[in-house]
Amino acid sequence: MKVIAATKNKGKLREMDEILSPLGIEIVPQEDVGISVDVEETGRTFEENALIKARAVCMVSDYPVLADDSGLCVDCLGGAPGVRSARYAGDGASDSDKINKLLSEIGDNENRNARFVTCVAYISEDGREITAHGEVKGHITHAPHGENGFGYDPVFYSAELKRTFAECSDDEKNSVSHRGRALKNLYDKLNGTEV
Ligand code: IMP
Repeated sequence: MKVIAATKNKGKLREMDEILSPLGIEIVPQEDVGISVDVEETGRTFEENALIKARAVCMVSDYPVLADDSGLCVDCLGGAPGVRSARYAGDGASDSDKINKLLSEIGDNENRNARFVTCVAYISEDGREITAHGEVKGHITHAPHGENGFGYDPVFYSAELKRTFAECSDDEKNSVSHRGRALKNLYDKLNGTEV
C-alpha cells in the first residue's frame, strides 16, 4: 500500500520507511509527488497537530496520508519543549542550537527525566481518520553523545537501550522509540479496521 508522508523532516521520513516498509507500506515523501504544503502547527496537543498536517496534505493527495507530530517532554521544564520542540530555539535554528538551549534551561537540575512522544495521524482515501500514540522514557544527559539519528537524539538517554539514541543503530532506536511504537499501534489499528 502506498501512503504519502506529510513531512519534509528527513529523519522522520527515514524512520517511517524503515518501520513500515517491512509491513508492506510504501512511504512516499510529499515532495516526491509535488506536494509542498507547509502548515502552521497551531494545535495544543500532538494529536491536534498531527491531524492538522494530515488534513492539509489529504486535500491535495490521491493516496492515503500519514502525518507525525512529535516532541520531547522534560519533567523539570514542566513538559517543555513539548509541541514546540521543532521551534524551541526559534525558526530556522539548528539541532545543536536546540540542544544547547535545552541543556542551558535544564542547567544542573538533578531531575532530568524526559520522554519522547509521537502522535501519528492517518487519513484513508475515503477520508477516515485514525490516530495512534507512542512514547519512550529516558533522561537528558549533561552533554551530547553520538552521531546518529536527528533532533534531540544526542542528549536523550534511553532507559531501555542504556545509551543515547544517537549512539544506537537505526534498528535499535526504532525498536523502542516513540515513533516506532506509534506506528506499530497505528498498523495494528489499520489491520483491525481494514481501512
Ligand atoms: P514536529 O513534529 O514537526 O513538530 O517536530 C518535532 C521535533 O521534535 C523535531 O524537529 C525534533 O527536534 C524533535 N523530535 C521528534 N522526534 C524526535 C526523535 O526521534 N529524535 C530526536 N528529536 C525528535
